[in-house]
Amino acid sequence: MRKNHLLTALGIACLYGLAPTAGAGKAGGVAVWPFRKQVVPIPAKVASPSVSRSKTVCTWRQGREYLALPSSLPPDCCSEKPDPRRLKVHRGTAEMSFGQDGSYFLYNGCKIFLSFPFFRERQELYVSRDDFESKIQPLIHPQGITAKIPVPRTVVLDAGHGGKDSGAVARGVSEKTWTWDVVRRLRQQLSSLGYRVILTREGDKFVPLADRAAVTKRAQPDLFLSLHFNAYPNAGAKGFEIFTFPIPGAPATHAGNRQRGNAPVSLGNHPFAAGNTIEAYAISSCIHDAFPNLENRGIKAARFQVLRNNPCPSVLVEGGFMSNAQDFEIFSKPENRERLAGAIVEGIKKYRLNVERIGH
Ligand SMILES: [Zn+2]
Repeated sequence: MRKNHLLTALGIACLYGLAPTAGAGKAGGVAVWPFRKQVVPIPAKVASPSVSRSKTVCTWRQGREYLALPSSLPPDCCSEKPDPRRLKVHRGTAEMSFGQDGSYFLYNGCKIFLSFPFFRERQELYVSRDDFESKIQPLIHPQGITAKIPVPRTVVLDAGHGGKDSGAVARGVSEKTWTWDVVRRLRQQLSSLGYRVILTREGDKFVPLADRAAVTKRAQPDLFLSLHFNAYPNAGAKGFEIFTFPIPGAPATHAGNRQRGNAPVSLGNHPFAAGNTIEAYAISSCIHDAFPNLENRGIKAARFQVLRNNPCPSVLVEGGFMSNAQDFEIFSKPENRERLAGAIVEGIKKYRLNVERIGH
């Protein structure tokens, strides 16, 4: 799938022909952002730093393809460089910005961690094609996604831990108690909206991770969500975060350099990588709206077993840090656990609207 490229004499630059007027059209009746439509061989000297918006420039680094931004974005995106080290892109009311730290970008203020760091070269900002297709395009231009994303009707909810596995424990409270409490509230709210809801555990019961994955596989849901609360030796760590499964060959977020060159190549739920991002962002933005004082730690990737082989978009939500006094105070109140469940339901509804709009 990655063969549509031309290595130039310099071995780095290639150019994709984009025809914004005719090219942003239809392929087999489905709107496709036309990256793979046509490859135009050009001499290396043409791949200059000043890039026309009608062209997508890409380059290769360590065997990985990178696309230049904003050239790779739809023509109705407008971009600005507030200073040479920053890039801001607007599309409608959405704003995407890239700062100095190559590990993430901000989408409407939410930190979204990349699988591979972006870099700058000759005034251009380059992101890996993998990140572009799995994290950037699904948010800024979801109509360009070609992968099928199921409209959520059946949802599997996974309450973290249970039975002999308490999870984190803080001030005499077990994580398993809060996860079950929020998940049963979620079930109630989702069921009343007509969703078919299946749980991987019922009540305070120990269910091995492999059995949870088996429940998901049997249920063949359209959406999966696992709920946890965090804990860390440093009591200052706080906030909520959302995880998806890393794309093939990518390390987990914060894996460090040792794992970076050595990430396991497993497919995971790769066919749903774009759906994972849309689901994670929809839920993240709704939790952020419901809890403006709860720190938003962003959307990250980790090889959690309950996400690995799921047949649908899947996320794991860490609701907050039990080891942090402020977060603990928030979620020790039942009304805030109800509010968290409500925010997640809003996120699922928002996700559903997005998927319906994509329309395939
Ligand atoms: Zn947990």
